[in-house]
Amino acid sequence: MSDAVVIGSGLGGLLCGCILSRNGYRVTVLEKGAQTGGSLQSFVRGGIRFDTGFHSVAALAPGEPLYQIFQPLGLMDLPWRKVDSPDEVVVDGVSRFLPKPSEVPALKALSPLAYDIGTDFSEEAGTGAALWLRSHGLEEQLYLGVPLRLQSPLQEVSLHEFAHITYHFMNGSYRLEGGGSCLAQALSDQILSRGGEVLTRKEVVEIAPATPGQCHVRCADGSLYQGICVSDIHPAATAAMVRPSLRPSYLKRLSVLRNGTGIFTVYIKLKPKAVRYLDHAVSINGLLVHFGHPGPDGFARSVDLMTHVEGPVADREAFARSSIQKTSVRFPELEDAVEQFWTSTPDTWARYTGTPGGSAYGILKECGRLSLCVVSPRTPLPGLFLTGQNLGLHGVLGVSYTAVRTCSVILGAPIINQMFHFTS
Ligand SMILES: Cc1cc2nc3c(=O)[nH]c(=O)nc-3n(C[C@H](O)[C@H](O)[C@H](O)COP(=O)(O)OP(=O)(O)OC[C@H]3O[C@@H](n4cnc5c(N)ncnc54)[C@H](O)[C@@H]3O)c2cc1C
Repeated sequence: MSDAVVIGSGLGGLLCGCILSRNGYRVTVLEKGAQTGGSLQSFVRGGIRFDTGFHSVAALAPGEPLYQIFQPLGLMDLPWRKVDSPDEVVVDGVSRFLPKPSEVPALKALSPLAYDIGTDFSEEAGTGAALWLRSHGLEEQLYLGVPLRLQSPLQEVSLHEFAHITYHFMNGSYRLEGGGSCLAQALSDQILSRGGEVLTRKEVVEIAPATPGQCHVRCADGSLYQGICVSDIHPAATAAMVRPSLRPSYLKRLSVLRNGTGIFTVYIKLKPKAVRYLDHAVSINGLLVHFGHPGPDGFARSVDLMTHVEGPVADREAFARSSIQKTSVRFPELEDAVEQFWTSTPDTWARYTGTPGGSAYGILKECGRLSLCVVSPRTPLPGLFLTGQNLGLHGVLGVSYTAVRTCSVILGAPIINQMFHFTS
């Protein structure tokens, strides 16, 4: 049995660990935090469970791309629930729902792009989404009106990102009863059941070559692991741990890639029976409103408000209050219904998952230079591979594509194609 060491227990690391363990590897996942899951983690405050990152996914209907990856891994057995309606967008006080792509001929034509999981980008895929929408007479404000799902700045969103994220969310989104940590737990359980380990409080500090095609991985507590190594953390952070250093041209290539902005979140505990639960997400001038799970009385006990922010937030309390105020155009009852709130800023994320500058989605995939922004799972050190949101698209769907791509490099395309029923 070969050994695989996975650095980081975010979705990318756990998916790779799960796929490798199903293919005969004894997997050890090393996570620096106290909990597994990275951006899938949940936490409890005031007796309420909040999700930190992941709130909903798309493309989970049979035949859609995430279903195609999750179904063979047994992840469709988790308690997914289709949301009652598509995302609602409030622009200048007017509220609308995103239509289904099938109702809009120009969007319908994006279907081949939305289902193509490869990274050989056509010129069209690298086009700016805003430009494309305008040239097809489609309203930018509506279609790019849920900016939290997309990288920022919005003018750099490619048609590729639009097709893989907005397009699929327009077809319907899904929530996971029990939150993102259930997904992390299900993946960890599979790794454990095949003889692997998922270890927390194990911060990796050094990666070095071992026998050909394998690496030594050293943790801050001095423990040492050996095997092929898959890193789910930022490529630049991974490269910085390699001894002796990787070649300068590779480090230079990584250093010119820009990271996207961070996200400010207000986690609100609501007073009982004060705000009716709403199943779908609402975007109000860029602020994403996501209610927690409903109580039996049909009222919500929690709501999260999320917005992209540039740089650190000096006054968290003031920023949180202004976010709460922004919801009044759609939820006039919400401000008075706040019982207690907590916040997270990009600094929180930088500390907690180690993402550079607190970037929510990592390396920007800029339109116009898309191919240059996509990082290969291979590195110059034989036996060291990369995965996670920084390599390709962010989000559960993007990270799942990339995990499959990373494992395809390690195991070979025929094994992966057979496992996921891909036709090529
Ligand atoms: C606020 C927010 C809301 C989001 N909402 C959604 C959503 O609704 N739907 C959706 O699809 N996506 C959403 N996303 C995006 C999605 O959650 C992420 O793209 C995805 O979970 C990233 O997974 P990952 O494996 O790439 O990285 P991460 O989740 O960042 O995992 C990396 C892991 O590596 C660990 N680590 C770092 N350094 C080390 C080290 N030296 N040694 C050991 N371990 C280390 C970290 O602690 C972390 O656990 C959201 C993200 C954010 C921030």
